[in-house]
This record gives sequence, structure tokens and C-alpha cells, in this order.
Amino acid sequence: MIEFAQTPDVHFFLCRQCRAHIALTQDLVFMDMRMGAYFLRSAVNVHVGDDPMDYRTLGDCTIADAYCHRCKMQLGWMFAGVPEFVQVGVLDFNIIVRVGNVLLYPCKLLYWDGSQILYAYTHQPVEDSSRESFSDG
Ligand SMILES: [Zn+2]
Repeated sequence: MIEFAQTPDVHFFLCRQCRAHIALTQDLVFMDMRMGAYFLRSAVNVHVGDDPMDYRTLGDCTIADAYCHRCKMQLGWMFAGVPEFVQVGVLDFNIIVRVGNVLLYPCKLLYWDGSQILYAYTHQPVEDSSRESFSDG
């Protein structure tokens, strides 16, 4: 498992369920909160499934469901096969995509903002003393 330095000048996303470190905010290309998606250049501690059912096509690309490596919760999906120099419309954006680019669901993530852990979707602080209830939206 890869772990980022949990320091004030490093901001990153964590798995909401097990708090595995997932992606640095410097790799965030864009976010679309209306669609509930973060598009990132790369992520760590995620893997794509072995099941062919996990794989779909998006334009000329192959995308695969992406899971947290530790707790196996689905966090989003990853570009698994991309022709060279393809530009794909993802959500409202036309972007150049590469293998390893990921689209993650903010509702499945926490966010380290340099001083505390927040829910990525709402930016509400996570109460560290109690385990998460998974009940908020
Ligand atoms: Zn996890």
C-alpha cells in the first residue's frame, strides 16, 4: 500500500471505508459535482477487476470498474485501454485521456485538507472519535 505524507502541504483523497490513500489533489484534472465525479490523472491503491463484466467501452476507449485495493469497495472507474491521442468527451469535458486515468466518485472518498479529514462530497469534518455511520448522503 502506498501512503502519502499526511502533512499540511499535501492534500489527497482517501477511501471512505478503510482510509487507504487514493489520489493526490494535484492529480485532479477537473471535478463535476453535479455528476458526482472527479477526473484524476492517476490514483494509487486502486485496482481494476478481473471479471470481463467490469469492462465497458466509452467511445474508442476501454474502461474498467476500479476498486479500493484494501477494502474492495468500488471507487469509480479507470481507463484501461486508450488509443493514442484520443480525445474523449467525459461528462461535459473534452479531454485527452491516457491509460491509468481514473474517474472517482466523491461520495466514496474522504479528503485530507492538510489539517483534518473531511468528507470529499460535503467537506464536513469526519468525527475521528466515532466510526463512520455511512448514513449521511
Ligand atoms: Zn478502501
